[in-house]
Order: sequence, then C-alpha cells, then structure tokens
Amino acid sequence: MIAEILCVGTELLMGQVLNTNAQFLSRRLSALGVSQYHQTVVGDNADRLEAAYRLALSRADVVITSGGLGPTVDDITKRVAAKVAGKELVIFPEAEEMVRSRFRQYHRDMTQNNLSQAMFTPDTTLLLNPNGTAPGAIVPMGGGKVVIHLPGPPVELQPMFIDQVEPYLHRRSGRVLVSRYIRIFGMGEAEVDSRLSDLETGGNPTLSPYCSLGEVQLRATAGAKTKEEAEALLQPLLDTVKERLGSVIYAIEEDDAGSLAKSAVEALKARGWTCAACESLTGGMIAANLVDIPGSSSVVRGGLVTYQTDTKTLLADVPAEVIALKGVVSAEVAIAMAEGTRRRLGTDIAVSATGVAGPDGGTPECPVGTVFLGVSTVDRRYAIPLALTGNRSRIRTLAMKNAVNALRLEALGLEPATIREGNAHK
Ligand code: ATP
Repeated sequence: MIAEILCVGTELLMGQVLNTNAQFLSRRLSALGVSQYHQTVVGDNADRLEAAYRLALSRADVVITSGGLGPTVDDITKRVAAKVAGKELVIFPEAEEMVRSRFRQYHRDMTQNNLSQAMFTPDTTLLLNPNGTAPGAIVPMGGGKVVIHLPGPPVELQPMFIDQVEPYLHRRSGRVLVSRYIRIFGMGEAEVDSRLSDLETGGNPTLSPYCSLGEVQLRATAGAKTKEEAEALLQPLLDTVKERLGSVIYAIEEDDAGSLAKSAVEALKARGWTCAACESLTGGMIAANLVDIPGSSSVVRGGLVTYQTDTKTLLADVPAEVIALKGVVSAEVAIAMAEGTRRRLGTDIAVSATGVAGPDGGTPECPVGTVFLGVSTVDRRYAIPLALTGNRSRIRTLAMKNAVNALRLEALGLEPATIREGNAHK
C-alpha cells in the first residue's frame, strides 16, 4: 500500500504554521509499514489543489489530507476532492447531528455555512471528531483508491488518525503489523549500521534506524495474517540484533516511550541498589533525568550540585590537594566526587560528572568537551573520560546520558560501554 500526505493551507506555505501534521502522519505511517514516496503542501487554491489531488492519486493508493474541513469559503479540501471524484456533496444527516451536537456542547449558535461540514460525497465513510466540529472522511475515488480527509488542528487530527484511520489501514492491508523499538546508547549510527546493514534491506520484517542526541533507535516491524505469525517472524531478527550489538541495547519495547533513565532505574531496582549523583557541568540534569521516571524514589537517594570548585570539597569531600594537583576536570576528581557522594549519602552507587561545557573555559590540554565521569560502588571506583563535541547544551546532555548509562551498566554488572565520540576508556 502506498500513501501520500497532502497538507492544505496557505498558512503552511507562508511559514505561519509549522507542518507538524506531516511529521506526525509520516511517523505513524512508517511505523505501520505503509510506504510513502511523496508529500505535498498546497495553498487554499482550488485549481492547484485539484492538480495536487490528481497527481497524488496517480501514484498512491491512499491520499491523506490535513486541513481545510472548516465552514469558511477557503475550506475547499472536500469540495475539490468531490470534483476530482466526479460526485456531488450531499448532507449526511448523521454528520449534521454530529456538528449540531458539538455546537450545543460548546454553547455556540450554528450558522448555515457550518452545515458544509456535514456534506460529503454519497459513498463516504465518516470519521468522528470528538475534539472539534468537522468530521473527517474516507472517500472512495474509484479504482480502489481513497482520499482520507483529516481536520487541520493537531488535537483533532492525531486522535482521529490513531483511533479510526489506523484500524482502517490495517483492515485494508489485511495484515497485522507488529513492531519493536530497539534503543541503543553507546554506539554511533555508522557503527550500528555497519553491523546490521545486511538486515536493513529485508522486506518483511523490516529494520529501520533513526537517531536522536547520542542515541540510535531501530524499529523492527513484521507483517502477517495474525499477531502470533508476525511475532514469530520478528523474533529471529531481534535475536540477531541482540547478538550483534550486545549491551549497547538498553531497551526493546513495544512502543517508543522507553528511555535510558527508565532502563537505568529498572536495572538499579532489580539489583536492589540506591544511587546518588554529584554534578558539576550537568548541574542537576542526571538527578532530574532519573527522577523523571515514576517510581524512581525507591532508587534515587539524592544528588549534589557542586559547580564551583570549592563546593566539590565542601559538599562531596573531594580533597583540595587532589584538585590542586590534578585539576578540577580530571579522572581523579571525578572519582573523588563519586566516592565522597556515595559515602555521604550512604548509597550503593554514585556517579559524578566534571568537565568543560564551553563555549569558554577550554585550554589546549583540556579543550571544551573534555568530561570525566566518576563511578563509585562498594567494590570499585573508576573514571570514564569523554571527548564530546558540539555546543554547551549538547555537551551537557551527552555527559548526563553517559552518566545515566554508567549507572545502568554498573547495576547490570556490565563493563562500561565504549562511549560514543572519542572515548579513550576501553
Ligand atoms: P477548522 O475547522 O478548525 O477550521 P480545518 O480542518 O479547516 O479546521 P484549517 O483551517 O486548515 O483546518 O487549520 C486549522 C488550524 O490547524 C490551523 O490554523 C493550524 O493552527 C492547524 N493546522 C493546519 N494544518 C496544519 C498542519 N499541517 N500542521 C500543523 N498544524 C496545522
């Protein structure tokens, strides 16, 4: 099945509104395994919209429109689609009642032009809109092709797509799709790709990588007649990926809501460990990231923000002579920060971060992006040196993520990972 997104609205062309509907729809369609080869944005102009419909219908089975379902004269999406289908719009009593009840609910008077929101071509399937007045529609266009009309406001479009259009697309494809999201930290995209490239060309199941800051995510999807068959197709692929990537995989989940912090908190919980953080350049980000996870209170004991040099001694008992001898951004200070914090807070593990976030403060010996993480447990203490690149925000975020990952690995009893970007530690 090939789908094509057609967003209607002059405000999109003018840059007044960011086209988030296209992003949302594309992500959902690709998660469903539906192919897309083109996307179009067209203004509120009937001739250009008609041409856009004809082109989209010449190359896709399903054309999904967003916007232009409202009652005003420039809301032309349905009218032009009806013209392309060679049909008239007629009032749907069921849709009229939907629009009227929405107006009653909002305590607003309904004007005559609002009835246009209840007009569709006769063979249309309506899509309910619990969040607005304009119903959506699935409109047959001949030759087995359809146009699916969705309202412009994302709060209306998104639930309508998830609750009503996705089940339709499943039924239409006659297949059940099962996906798993494989989340990776500690290995760059190029490396992941080189290890898995032979798996990424498969038709069913498919494996598709995408990146976010410091992380790589893979989506593995299989389609079959039943969920069980799709899962059986998927399992060997997941096993191969696990075997090839090992401990850099921090989660394999059915949705993409996982996070490094969630995996770290789960690993600490499973080990029965409490943790603390001592933070210089991250200024509390490590603790905040962990505390973001519901239920982290049984694991996270607290944290220290020791930003100025003397506070590392004052709060975390870092010996002043170690700072004087080794420099505040050093492996020794990172270890002492973690060790002092673990002892003060009485936790099973503590992690620390000291480094140069920039843009100022770098020296030839210790350039911007130099970061040392410290890890202290009852059994061992070590530093993880990082050489990060990018702006201040990127450096701080990557330092935080690496620290959270260090907690995860230590709780799982695994060795520190080969950290992305110039890690000297092996
Ligand atoms: P309404 O009934 O509210 O008029 P509509 O279906 O006619 O809805 P539009 O009038 O085209 O939709 O757009 C309504 C609003 O929805 C826009 O002002 C904009 O804020 C938002 N919107 C429209 N298209 C998009 C898009 N592609 N991405 C994000 N937001 C959009």
